[in-house]
Amino acid sequence: MRNPVVLVTGASRGIGLKCTEILLSKFNAQVITLSRTISPELKALASDNLLALECDVADENKVKTAIAQGIERYHHLDGLVLNAGVIEPICRITDDTPLSAWRTHFEINFFSLVTAIKATAPSLRKSELGGRIVFVSSGAAVKGIAGWAPYNSGKAAMNALCRTLAEEEPEIVSIAIRPGIVDTAMQSSIRENGAPMGDEGHGGFVRLHREGLLVKAELPSHVIAALALKGPKTLNGQFVSWDDDVCKEFMA
Ligand code: NAP
Repeated sequence: MRNPVVLVTGASRGIGLKCTEILLSKFNAQVITLSRTISPELKALASDNLLALECDVADENKVKTAIAQGIERYHHLDGLVLNAGVIEPICRITDDTPLSAWRTHFEINFFSLVTAIKATAPSLRKSELGGRIVFVSSGAAVKGIAGWAPYNSGKAAMNALCRTLAEEEPEIVSIAIRPGIVDTAMQSSIRENGAPMGDEGHGGFVRLHREGLLVKAELPSHVIAALALKGPKTLNGQFVSWDDDVCKEFMA
C-alpha cells in the first residue's frame, strides 16, 4: 500500500504544524503544506515526504499553482486539512473597522476554502484510500462572541460549506471540527488585541491562559490528522468537537 498524501494549509505554526508533524511521524504520510512563511519549526521537518510551499491562501492563483505542484510531486491526494485562518480583525460590528478588513478576513478564512476544494476535488474523488477534507472550524461557528463578528461569521460559513459539500460530493468525506481553546499564537493575539470583546469575554480567555487551561495543540491536531486519513462516512457533513465521543478512536 502506498503512503497517503495529505495537504495541510497553515502549517507554519500552531495546529497546522502539529498536524503536519503527526502526519509525517505517525501516519507515514507524504505532506504538502501551504503557508505564507516557512518557519524554522516547519523547516526542521524537511524530508522527501514533505513539500512545504510558501503560499498566501488568499491568492487564488498561487493556491491553484501550489496544489498542482504538490499533486505533481506525490501523484495522489487523499486528504485536505483546511486549517489556515486568522482571528483579525477583532472589532465591533458598528465600530470604524473598514469593510476591507472584513473582506481580507473572508478571503483567508472562507474564499480560500472554496479555491482549495475546487483544486483538490478531482484528486480526492479518485483517491483509492478514500478522499477526505477536514475543516478546522471553531465553537465560534455556532456562537455570537462579541468582538469576533468576522470570525464567527466565517466559521459559520465554513460549516455550511462542509455540510453542502457532503451533499454534493458523497465520494469525499467532509468533516468540520472544533479544536477547543488551543494554546497557539492565535490565542496570544486574542489576549493582546481582544479589548473589543469587552472585559468579560476578553477576561475569560486571559484567565484560561493564566490558569493553564488551554488545550495543547498536539491533542486536537492528532484527531485532525487521523480524521484526514480515516474519517468515517458517518461523520460526512458533521461538525464535531475534538473531544466528542465520536472522535475518541482518533485521539493520540
Ligand atoms: P496560528 O498559530 O495563528 O496559526 C495559523 C496558521 O495559519 C499559521 O500557520 C499561518 O501561517 C496560517 N495562515 C494565516 N493566514 C494565512 C494565509 N493568508 N495564507 C496561508 N496561511 C495562513 O493559529 P492556530 O490556533 O493554530 O489556528 C489554526 C486553525 O484553528 C485556524 O483556522 C483557527 O481558526 C482554528 N482554531 C483555533 C483555535 C485556538 O484556540 N487556537 C480555536 C478554534 C479554532 P503564516 O502566518 O505563515 O501564513
